[in-house]
Amino acid sequence: MTQTALAGAAAETAATVSAEAPATPDRPVRPRPAAKPHGQWKVDGKAPLNPVEVWKQEDDGLSVRHRIETIYSKQGFDSIADDDLHGRFRWWGLYTQRKQGIDGGKTAQLEPHELEDSYLMMRVRTDGGKLTTEQLRVVGQISIDFARNTADLTNRQNIQFHWIEVENVPEIWRRLEAVGLQTTEACGDVPRGMLGSPVAGIAKAEIIDPTDFLQELRDRFIGSPQFSNLPRKYKTSITGYPDHDTIHEINDISFVGVEHPELGPGYDLWVGGGLSTAPRLAQRVGVFVPPEEGPAVWEGVTSIFRDYGYRRMRNKARLKFLVEDWGAEKFRQVLEDEYLGHKLRDGVAPPKAKVNGDHVGVHEQKDGNFFIGAAPCVGRFSGTGMMALADLLEAHGSHRLRTTPLQKIIALDIPKDHVEAVITGLDAIGLSARPSVFRRNTMACTGVEFCKLAIVNTKDTAINIVSELEERLADLVDAGELDEPLTLYLNGCPNSCARIQTADIGLKGIIVPTADGGTTGGFQVHLGGGLSSHNREEAGLGRTVRGLKVAIPDLPAYVERVIRSYVSNKLAEE
Ligand code: SF4
Repeated sequence: MTQTALAGAAAETAATVSAEAPATPDRPVRPRPAAKPHGQWKVDGKAPLNPVEVWKQEDDGLSVRHRIETIYSKQGFDSIADDDLHGRFRWWGLYTQRKQGIDGGKTAQLEPHELEDSYLMMRVRTDGGKLTTEQLRVVGQISIDFARNTADLTNRQNIQFHWIEVENVPEIWRRLEAVGLQTTEACGDVPRGMLGSPVAGIAKAEIIDPTDFLQELRDRFIGSPQFSNLPRKYKTSITGYPDHDTIHEINDISFVGVEHPELGPGYDLWVGGGLSTAPRLAQRVGVFVPPEEGPAVWEGVTSIFRDYGYRRMRNKARLKFLVEDWGAEKFRQVLEDEYLGHKLRDGVAPPKAKVNGDHVGVHEQKDGNFFIGAAPCVGRFSGTGMMALADLLEAHGSHRLRTTPLQKIIALDIPKDHVEAVITGLDAIGLSARPSVFRRNTMACTGVEFCKLAIVNTKDTAINIVSELEERLADLVDAGELDEPLTLYLNGCPNSCARIQTADIGLKGIIVPTADGGTTGGFQVHLGGGLSSHNREEAGLGRTVRGLKVAIPDLPAYVERVIRSYVSNKLAEE
């Protein structure tokens, strides 16, 4: 379908009157009110339809950098304009941080400005999780100098500082950019940090190495005005690893490595995944993407989102809503006809994952060296830990590491006879290459410690559950009853930064009533989700167990009961 025909079809759906029963003298036809436009630029025009779209059009998010460097860093926090502080700062990876000491129960009662103070959270993008030990030292020193030694590993391969003061932001950028790192578009309505296989170019089993593809996207499109005003955030993942290590089912756009029987290695294209309060799994578009066409296809899909994405309502603006309305067939047609100008060959489905894609443990590389995947506890790390990790790796001849979408760290290029010494050294800095099943598979979002939207403390709650389960369920582990991944994810609010709908046991922070008529922090329980990155045959979003809410002190006992019940009742093939 041509662009004009597409616009016409969309206009038809917005027509004022649909088929009505014929009028009679007693019942005149009443025209239905006109459907409101979705705010699609190519269909409805560019007039901004909500306040965020207004300021995005008035002044591009990227433009705030100049004001940070020349005004805000010199005149301090109070000089920052509201549209910049709560809007454009995100385009440079900066958010306001939750004021300390405000109980999660007050989150919904206070105005947003009452929940913040003058400190910022800063996200550093590390597309594909690639880091050198030199970069790690710079990040670690920034954490020590400016972030009170905080440096969380996020589940999108980023590194997150807290306690940042705006006065120090230009110096932090100077240090990061001197070693090729950036905070550009780490948040905001832009292509955010891109997930890439953490073992790209390393793993023996790799179908295709996506390193150059990812690098080209970063070089050409990040920080470019071409995509600095998308309808909403936009998440990318690319992997060539057969056991699926980039959670491709829940990104806006994913490229998954496949071997085409005639055309050789390339990618299968997926679009429209995303979680939050309206979770959707991505759909296969049904096309084979040759490696040399990857950047053009990414540009085409991202342009569709920019031009046809829904901009009227923020909660309907993710690509998943457009994909759901269009379906894969129409999406492919628009991509080919309007943006690529040629047809793509039909795709082949990716192979089923056979093992857990978190890369924890010791694995041989293509070149005969080894990589070691290690787990911090729920993503917590520190600047001093990073400096110690850089020292450890360099002492054993390694200068490269990766972060993963499952909040792990991978040390690369370890010679065989150094493996055990590196594992011991990792343990000493809080990174376990042989973690318990609970530590390995538990994730938590930022939570009430620093996030203004949070209702409960997630990280400390998760750390406590992990250590309790290690004791309570030691008998099952010793009996070999729990050797498969069993995922436990905790969100601090209804948003889904920790991806609870994709966990075996997902916990969403809420306020729960107490026996004495008061309230306390707790979690709504969601069960049965999973992705192929955790070796699930079929991805699924599980379901919320209505009415099942557990107060924080009761959680370890509750999770223990769920796991014991599962182990006793599971079917042979589960
Ligand atoms: Fe904050 Fe909620 Fe996201 Fe957790 S899930 S980081 S509490 S917005």
